[in-house]
Amino acid sequence: MGLLSLGTPLHWNDAHKYADHVRTHGIDQFLTIYKQRKDQKKQNLLWGDEIEYIVVNVDEEKHNTKLSLRVFDILPGLQQPELDYNAGKTSEAPPALWRPEYGRYMLESTPGLPYGATFRDLVQVETNMKSRRRLAKSVMYPGDVPVTLVNYPRLGCPDELIPAHEPNGQACQSMFVPDEIINPHARFPTLTANIRRRRGSKVEINMPIYHDTNTPRPFIDPTIPWDRDMFDHDKEAKLGAAKPDHIHMDAMAFGMGCCCLQITFQACNIDEARRLYDQLAPVAPIMLALTAATPIFRGYLADVDSRWNVIAASVDDRTREERGLDPLKNNRWVINKSRYDSIDTYISTDDTYKDKYNDLDLVYDKDIYNKLTNDGVDPLLARHLAHLFIRDPLVIFEELLEQDDSKSSDHFENLQSTNWQTVRFKPPPPNSEIGWRVEFRSMEVQLTDFENAAFSVFIVLLTRAILSFGLNFYIPISKVDENMRTAHHRGAVTNDKFYFRKNVFTSKSTNDDDDAFEQMTMNEIVNGQPQEDGFPGFIPLIHNYLNSTNIDIETRCKLTKYLDLISRRASGELMTGATYLRQLVMQHPDYKHDSVVSSSITYDIVKAADDIAEGKLRVPELLGDFDP
Ligand code: ADP
Ligand code: MG
Ligand code: MG
Ligand code: MG
Ligand code: MG
Repeated sequence: MGLLSLGTPLHWNDAHKYADHVRTHGIDQFLTIYKQRKDQKKQNLLWGDEIEYIVVNVDEEKHNTKLSLRVFDILPGLQQPELDYNAGKTSEAPPALWRPEYGRYMLESTPGLPYGATFRDLVQVETNMKSRRRLAKSVMYPGDVPVTLVNYPRLGCPDELIPAHEPNGQACQSMFVPDEIINPHARFPTLTANIRRRRGSKVEINMPIYHDTNTPRPFIDPTIPWDRDMFDHDKEAKLGAAKPDHIHMDAMAFGMGCCCLQITFQACNIDEARRLYDQLAPVAPIMLALTAATPIFRGYLADVDSRWNVIAASVDDRTREERGLDPLKNNRWVINKSRYDSIDTYISTDDTYKDKYNDLDLVYDKDIYNKLTNDGVDPLLARHLAHLFIRDPLVIFEELLEQDDSKSSDHFENLQSTNWQTVRFKPPPPNSEIGWRVEFRSMEVQLTDFENAAFSVFIVLLTRAILSFGLNFYIPISKVDENMRTAHHRGAVTNDKFYFRKNVFTSKSTNDDDDAFEQMTMNEIVNGQPQEDGFPGFIPLIHNYLNSTNIDIETRCKLTKYLDLISRRASGELMTGATYLRQLVMQHPDYKHDSVVSSSITYDIVKAADDIAEGKLRVPELLGDFDP
């Protein structure tokens, strides 16, 4: 996310009147960029990661932790080197860029400058991630630590915030979390409130609870204030929003307060970006399952391992009509997914693409589609944009309504950046050197920088192999969606199968047999199928790619360590973060086999997260003999 614009954000009652204005100008802004930059060639590979952290206060004496809402006090210090560099006060590039995130307890860091195309760059990633963690630690309040847990296990439980606040805020109206948990910049409380206002109810998040031996059946959560009468929306819990046998959450923070690991690549031109977007889409659910690290929500063990559906539900602004619950009257479409979800349409026009892969009944704005195609955009890309633009802009700043569409991309970005999908096709910003990019967004952040570097490097090398060998990962997009659902299952890596394509070397084929796909284990997808005509596997493909380059031995050894970690996670030899955290809870002496993750267990989880990241605690079941 770039620097945030300042101004007066409109209440939904006013904002919705300008939705068409923002959409129309947003499309004009895209067209300006498209016409200027569509033929641009020879951009170099540049890429970078984003890592998000939660900041937790650890009280060693009381063996207690609280989520620290004080990140905005320390952020300016972290950002100073970037400001100095941008102001020309120093020629030294900052070691890292720091950004606020949705939660007031969250931090996001990226490398100071994007990485280039060399193998040497890949070797620096882990060092850079470690120095970022060190930097963050160096500015913390006493007792605060940044950890790369996906979420705070007891977010939404009483007495878990410092400073303390009661859940009585107007923006989210949550029964569990206060508004003070939200980034204070006006955009974020407005986004939160406008999602609720547009939807007509609070967001409804329900993740299945893990039924342990002492968990009541049915599980009716005694910690929900069922009879609260502070806001009109309070009655929703009783009326069905809070489902039995589920962990119920009712605020955006439960989702957007989760941390992920994202990778952005600059492609050499628009066609390559579109190709990468398509090829990475079927990879996204696979990597969600493999990086799964979220088995706990609001103080309970869940029967899922990953965060994605929680975030999807946490920003689901669709009305009852759009969700198909009431007949269409005020809205235009029934929409199958939240704004935060897996992609709905492939966009590449290279010769491996076939229409049959786009097998979802895509909802898109026909007028926008017509405008784009009349202006020279091809049907596939036009459909993609006309699909993103079925959404309403949620936050509109009054002062920014009038833009110069030849210079600004504000209105375009308003819709683009609130379609949070598994992969994102990023056009160049106006008046910049930056090219066409693709962002890979499904991965969960890992406890250690060793793992975060390994997964980042793995994705970079996979894209190199895709481009170098012309790999074809296409399967029907409905199967990618099915894989997204599977990826949430507890222990999906070892227990489940995922749809994947068998023959990935079939460019230009007209033979449908070449397009076969089947359900494969994670081990087969990552390490390869044994049979001659089977899928060769991500890791063997990457090693073949590395064999075709003249990489030096030292670098190759380092990269091989990363690839081995991924390979051993996929085979089940090493645990996912989710399995490790689940085991930590289940084996904890204070755990009563009732699914409750208590304050003392949370303390040990946070301590373990920090100690493992610092290399002070060895966890061979998670990391093998690798030295983080
Ligand atoms: P957002 O939050 O919108 O996804 P960020 O600015 O937080 O984006 O992160 C973008 C990532 O892309 C960073 O890791 C950065 O290093 C990387 N990056 C920056 N410039 C380029 C570029 N020209 N091409 C590819 N990646 C880039
Ligand atoms: Mg970012
Ligand atoms: Mg506590
Ligand atoms: Mg972020
Ligand atoms: Mg990002």
